[in-house]
Amino acid sequence: MPETKQPTAPPLEAKSPFELRVDLSRDVPESDVRKALATGDMGFLHSFTTGSTVDGPGVRVVAWTAGCHFRCQYCHNPDTWTMSNGMPVTVDRAMAELRKYRSGLKVMAGGFSLSGGEPLLQDRFALKLFSAAHDLGIHTALDTNGSLGDRLSDAEFENVDLVLLDIKSWDPERHLQLTGAEIGPVLAFARRLAARKRPIWVRFVLVPGLTDDAENIAPIARFAASLGTVERVDVLPFHQMGRFKWKALGLNYKLAEVQPPSPESVERACAQFRAEGLTAF
Ligand code: SF4
Repeated sequence: MPETKQPTAPPLEAKSPFELRVDLSRDVPESDVRKALATGDMGFLHSFTTGSTVDGPGVRVVAWTAGCHFRCQYCHNPDTWTMSNGMPVTVDRAMAELRKYRSGLKVMAGGFSLSGGEPLLQDRFALKLFSAAHDLGIHTALDTNGSLGDRLSDAEFENVDLVLLDIKSWDPERHLQLTGAEIGPVLAFARRLAARKRPIWVRFVLVPGLTDDAENIAPIARFAASLGTVERVDVLPFHQMGRFKWKALGLNYKLAEVQPPSPESVERACAQFRAEGLTAF
């Protein structure tokens, strides 16, 4: 009989999160997935990347989780929407990966960031990773869409040194259209972090024709400034690096013809945040 060749799983470490990864935990039984979500002993990761300078302070190792309940029109990693596209990874394996970079991260004043996807869909796993990273003396950051913040208690958030909070739009109707989700829980989470004096970096994706008008940015800037714990705002220009993923996954990509914003438009958005006394890049 001819030998059937099993597809080889890609390495955990990717060159960038823009690698398309699908079906990596297709064979994990549903009961194991449920157990993993309940205990957090195992999670589902798209990949690890190293050397990031945009996902928190210093140079970072980033673990990209699989699974997201938002459906942002501009998402550049739609392969991370589905948990079954992620690779099953135990906490021990993830920590072994992180341990390799421990001393380098300290020298470069960096740390470990968990992004996605939405990391808090796997809240127990996220917590175990943050706690283990802290045990190694590594700074931790959570990049989140903010809607599942209730899944971690205030005490559990002590394991998260910094929250990178995506605020995608201000108007509730527009937020719903843009992401498929309500804005209310995101803002409530921001207020909760602020009340606990937890540091926040706000991330705002500037999409021409969707989020870049002054009327949308002004209330986000006012809100961010009112929190009192926003250390900086990152205005992230929309780009098309994920377009090929939408096509490969057979998804309807409405923004295929949208161009990235001009440098002047990015600067205008930054200026609106700065006008409220915030540091914006
Ligand atoms: S929250 Fe992030 S990962 Fe989820 S759909 Fe939006 S951009 Fe994509």
